[in-house]
Amino acid sequence: MKDIRNYKQETICVHAGTKETPEGSIVTPIYQTSTFKFKDVNHGASLFKGESDGYIYTRMRNPTVEAMEDAIAALEMGAKALGCASGMAAIHTLFATVLSHGDHVICSEAVYGPTYTILHDFFTRFGVETTFVDTCNSEAVQKAVQSNTKLIFIETPGNPSVVMADIAAIALIAHKAGAKLAVDNTFMSPIYQKPILFGADYVVHSMTKYLNGHADVVAGIIILKDESEYKSFRKSLNLIGGVIDPFNSFLVHRGLKTLSIRVKQQAENAMIIAEFLENHPKVKWVNYPGLKSHPQYELGLKQMTGPGSMIAAELLGGIEAGITVMNNIELFQLAVSLGGVESLIQHPASMTHAGMGKESREKAHIYDGLIRISVGIEDVNDLLSALDNALAMIP
Ligand SMILES: *Cc1c(COP(=O)(O)O)cnc(C)c1O
Repeated sequence: MKDIRNYKQETICVHAGTKETPEGSIVTPIYQTSTFKFKDVNHGASLFKGESDGYIYTRMRNPTVEAMEDAIAALEMGAKALGCASGMAAIHTLFATVLSHGDHVICSEAVYGPTYTILHDFFTRFGVETTFVDTCNSEAVQKAVQSNTKLIFIETPGNPSVVMADIAAIALIAHKAGAKLAVDNTFMSPIYQKPILFGADYVVHSMTKYLNGHADVVAGIIILKDESEYKSFRKSLNLIGGVIDPFNSFLVHRGLKTLSIRVKQQAENAMIIAEFLENHPKVKWVNYPGLKSHPQYELGLKQMTGPGSMIAAELLGGIEAGITVMNNIELFQLAVSLGGVESLIQHPASMTHAGMGKESREKAHIYDGLIRISVGIEDVNDLLSALDNALAMIP
């Protein structure tokens, strides 16, 4: 068979990574084992020296985990990937591997909450300083560069407002400064965005979201552009210990096989829902990369091959309107997280960001009427009537 990477991504989803087994298993089995036995002392010694290829201990390497990692590395056009226990374990491992005391990071303002917190509250204790900037504006990124800038971390599209950063422009800024660029690609999935093709050095995912896609696993991954960095990343993941286990790897790899058909159906549904919301009298604005009204529509066309299925919208009628929709909507599950086959809906001002207070929320563009929708693969007319009915309840 030719190199899997020469096939189209739909084919890569189905076939990449699968291990050949003596039994001819079609899928990679779950090697649910903590450790692997050596044939004799010499064999054990040569494995530890790295002179022969094989397995020692599951925190270090496991065939089921490796199969999933190889598949996702191929999909993201990276050299290597490292499966982690969660998206946050992946982000933590990335920072701990790349950064040292005295280094500076530039990070998107519109970023997943715990990513902000780990940089702001945790890595500062180890002497790493972060500047949070509006990465929609590449000039603002350039202005934030310091002589000790080691890493630029962007999330695009970003949480929760679905705004974008120009990956290629920011990669140039990073590399000119001698820094690396990492992209959190969770919102797009590799089907619609491959940051390494635009110059990113590292890609991270919460595989909890689209990659697994069935809302039954928490997991993450780091993808490396450059194979030469693999050893140091593997070493630090092995020491930090935030590895994914074989069973969750199996589930993610299983989910991956339908990734392309899932995200395409989700995007098709999301486009129809976004247009419906944009024309609804109780909706002030909609942010969805597939709509021409998205302020960065052109950038989306440049770096994404599809619009994804995350929609942000502001309802007229503030907090009360949001609460009314949340409490009355059918089908859309009232829950955080995203990217699964079931549609989810969330109202930051009354739920995830209620503790922040109105003033700081508005600074972060989290308005009282803002809702966030992750569109699933249900019949789109069922979803539209559920939304229509809930919006009609707003007084
Ligand atoms: C969910 C999420 C994470 C964190 O992933 P976990 O698997 O929950 O640890 C990181 N980034 C983004 C954009 C996310 O949506």
